[in-house]
Amino acid sequence: MRPARFILHRPTSLQEALELKARHGPAATFHAGGTELLVALKARVLRYEHVIDIKQLPELRHIRVRSDGTLSIGALCTHHRIANDPVVRELLPGYAELSEQVANIRVRVAGTIGGVLCFGEPHADAPTMLCALDAWVVLVGPSGEREVPLRDFHLGEFSTAREDDEILVSIEVAPQSSGTRSAYRCFGHAERPAVGVAAVWSTDNPQRLSLWAGAIAAAPLRLAQAEEAADRLAPDLPGDSVWQNLRDPVAADAARIDAHDDLHGGADYKRHLVSVLAQRALEACLP
Ligand SMILES: Cc1cc2nc3c(=O)[nH]c(=O)nc-3n(C[C@H](O)[C@H](O)[C@H](O)COP(=O)(O)OP(=O)(O)OC[C@H]3O[C@@H](n4cnc5c(N)ncnc54)[C@H](O)[C@@H]3O)c2cc1C
Repeated sequence: MRPARFILHRPTSLQEALELKARHGPAATFHAGGTELLVALKARVLRYEHVIDIKQLPELRHIRVRSDGTLSIGALCTHHRIANDPVVRELLPGYAELSEQVANIRVRVAGTIGGVLCFGEPHADAPTMLCALDAWVVLVGPSGEREVPLRDFHLGEFSTAREDDEILVSIEVAPQSSGTRSAYRCFGHAERPAVGVAAVWSTDNPQRLSLWAGAIAAAPLRLAQAEEAADRLAPDLPGDSVWQNLRDPVAADAARIDAHDDLHGGADYKRHLVSVLAQRALEACLP
């Protein structure tokens, strides 16, 4: 099916894009890679009279390290670019590795990190890892700029903290210490993940684990009991002992998840996958 007719705008600056959105209000939407939006427009699930193509905005295209060491990734960066960027590969190898496995090459070269975050489809990979990394997003709208921790960004399925007239400009990740490793493991029967687990493990003193499960619920979830159990582990515990100590807390976290039976699998099966994938992600982080 073809989309209903719309007027396409091609602003060349962030300011121009915001002005277009202010002029056309709810009748307008932003278009980045279009991998989600065009499908929804063609299916007529969504309908807009004005589509604002933001692909040319220079303010959203960077990957750079700020003076305080924070890594800033422009919202228009595609999964393919993130996977192959030398700075991301050096500073966040676990995130680069994840980006290399998103969907298929057609989606990776067109789909952007801003698009996957703003669309809010729960069956996605990057949000889980970015929550575990304690990332935050920068949003710009008519009333200025604000930052939102990614952990607070997804409010439910297809629902985010972004106001309709705001543009997501960048994703920011604070510098990781030299003793930090991260890994993501996922499983699914289709292109999108049924469940994904991200682990960020810091062996610095004090050691700290950030462990998140995604795709299984409306938004990524922290595996809090496992994180607390990791705080109590003796430093330099061998890898297999780490998992022996965390297995029960991870299973307890998984049992509490309000998962649903759907095309991606039964709820109990998905909760079981959380434990399997948590073990794999943790083992990939351990020296
Ligand atoms: C077949 C298929 C398989 C997929 N498999 C996976 C997978 O395995 N893992 C995974 O993680 N993801 C998967 N995805 C999702 C993919 O990651 C997203 O489709 C892609 O990243 C969306 O980016 P986009 O630039 O194309 O967004 P668009 O389609 O352009 O936009 C999506 C939505 O976000 C809004 N938007 C986009 N950018 C901004 C911005 N900067 N500011 C404000 N609003 C914005 C748009 O208005 C629109 O509502 C899959 C998608 C498809 C189609």
